[in-house]
Amino acid sequence: MLQSFKTLPQLIAAFPTEQHAVDHFTSIRWADGKFCPLCGNADEARIGTLTGTNTHKCYVCRKRFSIRVGTIFQDTKLPLRTWFAAIWMITNHPKGIASTTLATDLGITQKTAWHVLHRLRHAARTPSFGNPLGANGSPVEVDEVAIGGLEENKHTDKRLNAGRGPVGKTLVMGLIERGGELRAGVIPNTQRNTLVPIIEHHVAAGATVYTDEHPAYKSLTKDGFSHGSVRHSGGEYVRGAVHTNSIESAWGLLQRQIIGIHHWVSPKHLDQYVAEMTFRFNRREMAKGDRVNALLSQVEGPLPYKVLIA
Ligand SMILES: [Zn+2]
Repeated sequence: MLQSFKTLPQLIAAFPTEQHAVDHFTSIRWADGKFCPLCGNADEARIGTLTGTNTHKCYVCRKRFSIRVGTIFQDTKLPLRTWFAAIWMITNHPKGIASTTLATDLGITQKTAWHVLHRLRHAARTPSFGNPLGANGSPVEVDEVAIGGLEENKHTDKRLNAGRGPVGKTLVMGLIERGGELRAGVIPNTQRNTLVPIIEHHVAAGATVYTDEHPAYKSLTKDGFSHGSVRHSGGEYVRGAVHTNSIESAWGLLQRQIIGIHHWVSPKHLDQYVAEMTFRFNRREMAKGDRVNALLSQVEGPLPYKVLIA
C-alpha cells in the first residue's frame, strides 16, 4: 500500500525519516517485482538485502546496489525526501518551478537545483502512453509553434517561412487527441518530410486529423487520414468541428510556463521543458500526490552531469 498525500505538508508528514522515503521509492520501483539494475536479473529469489541496511545484493552478477542505482537519483547524495519535495513542485505547480526558486525553497545550491530539475524533466519525457492518438474516434489536432528569445512567442508564419523555422526561434510540434493525450517535441523544420512521418507514428491510421492550412499537411488525405483544415490566414479559426483550439491552448500553457518561469530557454533544453509541460498536461485530472508517484514510477536511467552539459 503506497503512501498517499494530498498536500505538501502531508507529503512531508508521510516521510518523517529518509528511510520512509527509501521504502516508498523501493515499493514503486519494484512494484512488478525485484530486479537487479546492474545485470537485469529479475529472479526475486536471487536478490537479497543485507540485514539492517539499504544495500541489496544480486546473486547472479554478485554485485551490491542501492535502490537508486540505474535511476536519475543514482549519482547525487541529495536525500530522497528532498527529491520528493522537488517532484511535488515540478509536477504540481501549474507552470513548473525555476531553479532559483527551488534552490531557496529546498536550501540547496542553484547548481544542484538546476541539476535536479533537468533530471526530473528527463524522467518526465520518458514514456508515451502507448496507444495511437485518435484510435478511439476522437479527432487529433496537429500544429507547430515557434518559441524562443525574450520577445513574445509567435505562431509560426508558415507563408513566409515555409519549410524552415523563423530565425532565432525553435520549432515545436504538437499532437493532441481532443479531450485526451498531448504529445509534443522539438522539430528541425516544418517540412512535409518532417511532419507527416511524426503524424504517421503517433496517430491511428484513418483517424481524423485537424490542422491549419500549412501546405505540408496537404497530403494527409492521401496518406490515409481524414483530414480537415482551417484557413487561419483567411481569418477562419473554426468551421464546425474543424479547429485547432485544443493544441493552441496547449501552446498557450507552454508559452506562459517558459515566459513566466524561465524567461528564456535555450533550444538545447527546450525539448525537456516541453516534456515537463506535457507530463503535467496529461495528468491534469490526477490527484497531486498521484502525480508525484507517477513521476517516481518513471525515473529509470541516470542522467550524468557530463551528459547534461555536453
Ligand atoms: Zn545482477
